[in-house]
Amino acid sequence: MKILEERIRRDGTVLPGDVLKVDNFLNHQIDPQLMDELGAEFARYFEDAGVTKILTVESSGIAPAVMAGLHLKVPVIFARKHKSLTLTDNLYTAKVYSYTKRVTNDISIDRRFISTTDKVLIIDDFLANGQAVQGLLDITNAAQIPVAGVGVVIEKRFQKGHELVKAAGVPLVALASIAAFEDGQVVFSEN
Ligand code: 5GP
Repeated sequence: MKILEERIRRDGTVLPGDVLKVDNFLNHQIDPQLMDELGAEFARYFEDAGVTKILTVESSGIAPAVMAGLHLKVPVIFARKHKSLTLTDNLYTAKVYSYTKRVTNDISIDRRFISTTDKVLIIDDFLANGQAVQGLLDITNAAQIPVAGVGVVIEKRFQKGHELVKAAGVPLVALASIAAFEDGQVVFSEN
């Protein structure tokens, strides 16, 4: 997606460890207009896929997921990383290793919000090694809920997540696909 690639070139910073910092439009400060356009783009890809719910993980997946939900007119559920007093039992859970924070979190979703009659679209900000998406796929597999696809704002094509999602047989849409970081610059892939 052209405007997203331009924004990454303009505002993204490549950090050591192959991490792209995009905290002035996606991961800290959020650009709502850009999120709206990303949501519309996800909706264009998945409008005929019969999506009934969107699943994401808190917190950085929420903004693009809500915008996709707005355009597809379906509810959005974010998996929680911390147990809350009001979220105690009746949960689907999975373990997720965080690439950027280097910690393992239990993520959980209340069973009331998804059922076997749903068809979910998984949305996240980044696809790196695929652990976050795998955690959500573990939950949908355990709950026997069909998955329409995975949509990510930015994929780092050179890490393991892309192949992992493809190997799971799930359609994958990345609005920006990064082939490599070279000398602190982002190189986008052609497809
Ligand atoms: P994965 O589980 O695919 O390895 O990593 C996905 C999660 O890690 C994303 O939800 C995102 O929050 C974080 N992440 C992974 N790589 C990057 C990166 O290069 N930049 C930023 N800002 N976050 C990343």
